Amino acid sequence: MREKTMTRKQVEEPKMQMTIRGMGLSLLVGNPTHKQKVVVVMGATGTGKSKLSIDLATQFQAEIINADKIQIYKGLDVVTNKVTTEECKGVAHHLLGIADPESNFTAENFISAVSLAMKSIIGRGKLSIIAGGSNSYIEALVDDENHEFQSRYDICFLWVDVAMVVLHQSLAERVDRMVDSGMVEEVRNIYKHNSDYSKGIRTAIGVPEFDSYFRAEYSSFSDEKTRAKLLEVAINETKINTCNLARRQVEKIYRLRDVKGWKIHRLDATKVFQKKGKEADMAWAELVAGPASMILNEFLFS
Ligand code: ATP
Repeated sequence: MREKTMTRKQVEEPKMQMTIRGMGLSLLVGNPTHKQKVVVVMGATGTGKSKLSIDLATQFQAEIINADKIQIYKGLDVVTNKVTTEECKGVAHHLLGIADPESNFTAENFISAVSLAMKSIIGRGKLSIIAGGSNSYIEALVDDENHEFQSRYDICFLWVDVAMVVLHQSLAERVDRMVDSGMVEEVRNIYKHNSDYSKGIRTAIGVPEFDSYFRAEYSSFSDEKTRAKLLEVAINETKINTCNLARRQVEKIYRLRDVKGWKIHRLDATKVFQKKGKEADMAWAELVAGPASMILNEFLFS
């Protein structure tokens, strides 16, 4: 039988976990001389923020607070690309699918909800990881009027970045997968004639884009060929708008880093997206998960 040898990472990981369970928690929980620590994982849609947050949460005894302004609403799990129970790997998630889809969840609502979630997470002796999505929510949280958040918390910002041309390809493929997983039925279920697409869950990319298609479905005058064409247009618009969203999100991260001076650690995941299967997993570990875990180790324990 071939002898199993442990890699350096495998040898070091248990040590690191012991540190976290032992000495580390005194740093995380209520030490009056230290600020509490919190991690913020940023990045454009589809870059792997959720995956990284879960990887780090399993390693550093953390719970995740969702900051995606659309995933906060109940429903549209496929369209908004919510993590599945299996993908969560047992890590507790907060602010995921909690708001009434017809309501308008605001940045103020987000700030109060984060504050409550963090209190309960800290009470359990755990680390909070605020995961991605809306930059305006994260900006409102971190740069609140009285700088209260920054005075109470030491923040480590991680940014999962993917070269835009590579990300666009992957986002287009993701929309095709969403369609295969029931996206059209999901949006049809919330379709209302003359709905307001300016608030609540109906602002999600993938909802207003299908309006003309559903109108045609409900109309007794449309033929099958027209409907097929409208469906194709809706899917294409969803792809284009998702790519535009990704571009805007990255521009905002650059502004927070370069204009506002936030110290954001950039992790380049481009090569992960250019590989498949095991090779992609290895690239992820080497280029994203590994460096992120070293940054957190330094942040939490130095
Ligand atoms: P803005 O001020 O433009 O709303 P933001 O920084 O607050 O930007 P983003 O996370 O960039 O928030 O989201 C902007 C828009 O992108 C949302 O209003 C919504 O249309 C779309 N969007 C964001 N997340 C999702 C998602 N998970 N699924 C579908 N659409 C989304």
